[in-house]
Amino acid sequence: MSDSPRDDLTELTRALIAHVAWQRDLGAVELLREGSLPAARAAAPEAPVEAPPLEGARGEAPPLEGSPVAAPPSAPSQPPPAPVVAPGYAAAPSAPPPPVARPPASPAAVRPLFVEAAAQGAARARGPALEGPARVAALQVIHDEVKGCTACRLVQKRTNTVFSRGNPFARLCFIGEGPGEQEDRTGSPFVGPAGQLLDRIIGSMGLDREEVYVCNVVKCRPPYNRTPEADEMHACSPFLVRQLDLVRPEVIVALGRTAVGFLLDTKDSMTRLRGRWHSYEGIPVLPTWHPSYILRQPPETVKATKAETWADMKLVMARLGLQPPTRP
Ligand code: SF4
Repeated sequence: MSDSPRDDLTELTRALIAHVAWQRDLGAVELLREGSLPAARAAAPEAPVEAPPLEGARGEAPPLEGSPVAAPPSAPSQPPPAPVVAPGYAAAPSAPPPPVARPPASPAAVRPLFVEAAAQGAARARGPALEGPARVAALQVIHDEVKGCTACRLVQKRTNTVFSRGNPFARLCFIGEGPGEQEDRTGSPFVGPAGQLLDRIIGSMGLDREEVYVCNVVKCRPPYNRTPEADEMHACSPFLVRQLDLVRPEVIVALGRTAVGFLLDTKDSMTRLRGRWHSYEGIPVLPTWHPSYILRQPPETVKATKAETWADMKLVMARLGLQPPTRP
């Protein structure tokens, strides 16, 4: 916020207009406020609406063209505006979770209606991308919803929700599975040993960690770092769908089986999927090993796993037209 109430009001008005436009683009036909449901709907609640499957929009990406890949011809001729990152946006710890007074209901029953609408909207044609502060504000709206979310059992053990880190205007997005212990404690994704390895991988690509966008499929830590259950991912994935619809990276790197399974809607093994291009909502997706998996490798296989990961990253660099930094 600025020092001027008038500037604050202008900024808030802009953010509200952008949010309403974004809801409209996602297919929402009305905005609901708690306690303001129409009488008929409040008296006889509708059955929970299941989000339609995304299969129709998923499939193999077009074959790679020559490398390096230049920016798309539609890219503006003027240099893009400097990224705008909301103060404390990426790493601000979340507020303590609200008390859970009753066992979690089915995710679809407790999920806000507009989340369902967003999930459905993401499967259809997208509207124009939000730019500048409007994108930051729209992401902050989702972030705030995540902080207050109680839609699955993972709320019970979490310390903080973990939304994202990095640049909401990034060309490259890394998506992992869910927060670990240190991420749960800090509220920021990929800050533990796996995060440090991811940062080294990003650095090897000639990028800074703040130049990419990093998030997870689920926003709360599964106990003992177990894999998220299907209903937990179902409850949480609309947040990720909406994040990606706003960030719209040029390339997604899916880290590990959970992220790959969600984005590509497949149960195929990582061995079959990694090293090849796939697609999520028209965005090229490259599956690769999760940094935690690399760190768990025994000495006899760790070298080969790292080599495979680096081979995958070279495909990403070619697609984005990146050159690795020259070593001294
Ligand atoms: S994991 Fe996702 S759906 Fe479950 S409580 Fe956390 S934010 Fe909500």
